[in-house]
This record gives sequence, C-alpha cells and structure tokens, in this order.
Amino acid sequence: MDFSEKARALVQEQTAEWDLVGRNYEGLRNVKVKTFDFGDFNIDVQYNPERIVSSIAKVDEQSIEERSCFLCRNSLPAKQRWIPYGIDYAILVNPFPIFPEHLTIANVNHTAQRIFENFETMLDLASHLSKFVIYYNGPKCGASAPDHLHFQAGIKGFIPIENDFSSEICCREVRSIDGVKVSHWPEYQRGIITLTGNDQSKLILVFNKIYHQLQIAKHAEPEPMMNIIASFDRKTWTVHIFPRTEHRPSQFYDSGERQIVLSPASVDMGGLLVTPREEDFIKITEEDVIDIFEQVCFDTQSVLTLINKL
Ligand SMILES: [Zn+2]
Repeated sequence: MDFSEKARALVQEQTAEWDLVGRNYEGLRNVKVKTFDFGDFNIDVQYNPERIVSSIAKVDEQSIEERSCFLCRNSLPAKQRWIPYGIDYAILVNPFPIFPEHLTIANVNHTAQRIFENFETMLDLASHLSKFVIYYNGPKCGASAPDHLHFQAGIKGFIPIENDFSSEICCREVRSIDGVKVSHWPEYQRGIITLTGNDQSKLILVFNKIYHQLQIAKHAEPEPMMNIIASFDRKTWTVHIFPRTEHRPSQFYDSGERQIVLSPASVDMGGLLVTPREEDFIKITEEDVIDIFEQVCFDTQSVLTLINKL
C-alpha cells in the first residue's frame, strides 16, 4: 500500500482550502537558492523566511512545558486535515514547507521523540511513501517538537545527498553486515553512515549496533544525537545516518554581523541549508558551511572508526 498519491492529493487540497498553506507553498515557488560548488558535490542554500519559527524554536524543557504542543490533535489548526497511517500515526501537510510537497507524520499520542523503538516505523514509512524521502530529527538535532514523536517527508529529488548517493562519486562501501551494505563519505565534509539493504529486520539490527556505538562514542541524553534520511526504491532501503555532536553552531548564538540563524537538521545535513533570514542567506560563505558542519557533525574519520567497530 503506497500512500504517496493520497498524500500528494492532500497537499493539493490543503493549498486550495487553507490560506496560510496556499500562501506558503506559493511563496516556495519564488524561493531564492544559491549553490556552493565543492567539486564532487554541491551544497544548496535556501532563503526561506517561513522557517524562522522552526529555526529559533526553544526546545529546552521549560519552554516546551509552557507552550501547547502544535502536533497534538486538539491543538491542530482548524483547517488541518490528515490521512490516518496505521492506528498510531497521521499524515499531515507541513504548513511551513521546504519542499513543494512536504509532510509531517505525527504520532496520534503525545509521546517523546525517540528513534530506537521507532526506526522500524521509519522504514515502513519510507516504503509506504515511496515518492518521498522520510527524515527524522533527534530531540536535540533540529526537531521543534522534541516532546511529540514525528517524522517528516519531502518529495524526492530536492536534497543533494539523494543524487550524490546515486552517482557514487563521494561515498564508498566499506563493509557488509548480514547483507546490509555500509557506506562511508570520506570527502563530503561531514561524517555520514549510509545503510542499504532489502531486509528490514537486518537493517534494524545494524541500526541498533550503530545506535549503541554512538552512545559509547558520545554519551547524550535522552538519546545519541542524530539526523536520519531514509528512502525506498526498487525494494531497497537507503538510510543516511548523520551522527551529531552539537545542536546548533556557535554562529547561531553570536550577535550582530557574526550571527547566522541556521539550526541544522536532516535537510541541512543532506546538503540543503535553510536560512530564514535574508541577511544570512546573502552573507553565508563556503567557509561558514564547512565550519558549521565541523561544529555539529562527527568528522569522517570518527565515523569510519565507528563503522569498523560494528
Ligand atoms: Zn503533542
């Protein structure tokens, strides 16, 4: 059962019947993008003012406790509709899009954002929304609702890593574990572990090993910090795991000229950086991009060491 067409129809309907969504999706057509050429790969920067709320979201415990949860059904906007996905999830249109078709898949219960018990669901979603990439932002890695379990999905073809993986220039397979291929990205400026395989249970086993190794490498509460992008094509899953060291780079907290409001999450890790302020979009340089990745990601060597321990 593929939910892709149903979900795409929902985006169409919601843009027509809900002014805010209509405006924001229309605005995305004229969004400014600039591209940095790193030789074997590109990094895109998107100027997207509607993302400011998400980028500066306060996610400390007190702030979360004091606000009402925007993913709980009783506080959803009146015009927001959804498609039930199983008994536990609802597929919603994201009102503040990065992609021309952008979904949020939220649990129907107010339960914490955690990946360990929910990675299987993420793989299910990738196969059931096969025209989309599914992504997960850890509670301290860009999720603006760390208290409410959710994934997001963007229509395929917009995140540079998708194409970079197919072209096989920047990544190489370094191991095979129980039929799951494990790839590494030596010259990609950020440490990434990519898994490919067609056996869901084996992918889960390898993911669990990575989770455990990340916990050892850098202990973090409530879970090892990471972003994940998963997709499904020709009966095979591709899962990019971006282990993280920091929630936000120092530029985020700087003031005046030095400040860059960029709160990296999965899409940014995949090579599409979102800047909600025009001044940041204009001034950000290639050096800033490398520096930001250095601050918030594992380096490529640490990731290779970790892969060898699996
Ligand atoms: Zn909630």
